[in-house]
Amino acid sequence: MLPEKFFLEIVTPSQLLYSGNVTEATVPGLAGYMGILPGHAPLISELTIGEISFVEQASRRKHHMFCAWGFCEVLPEQVSVLAQIAERAEDIDLSRAESAKARAEQRLNAKDPDTDFKRVQLALARALHRIQLAKKSNR
Ligand code: ATP
Repeated sequence: MLPEKFFLEIVTPSQLLYSGNVTEATVPGLAGYMGILPGHAPLISELTIGEISFVEQASRRKHHMFCAWGFCEVLPEQVSVLAQIAERAEDIDLSRAESAKARAEQRLNAKDPDTDFKRVQLALARALHRIQLAKKSNR
């Protein structure tokens, strides 16, 4: 019989953002969003910019977090997310993300040949994901 939960831990270099039993999770893998259910086959995936979501077993509440880069190790009964950058949706500073978006858009529109476009596009992607997440979090 498959287990009905797995233990999820989400850490960044500076903090433990979550640890507890969950019934499902979704993480932004390099090849696309990856859904994880209890009993998932073991794997390691690299993470990109996006949203982590999961359903806490005890409260049945769905949680949302922003994440940028890192790794996820999946085992049948335990999933560890080691994110380079991550924030709970409710902790995202919306006006900071909107300023980051405006800065990135200005840089892209200025078409300065000295601009590192890849870097600006990644900054814009982070800002857009943060804005989307902050707007859908209940606060
Ligand atoms: P900014 O230009 O506003 O610094 P950024 O995308 O360059 O944005 P990151 O490099 O992704 O910032 O993150 C640097 C640190 O700042 C991380 O610890 C991250 O959690 C935090 N951070 C960045 N933007 C926000 C935000 N809008 N709300 C909360 N924390 C944020």
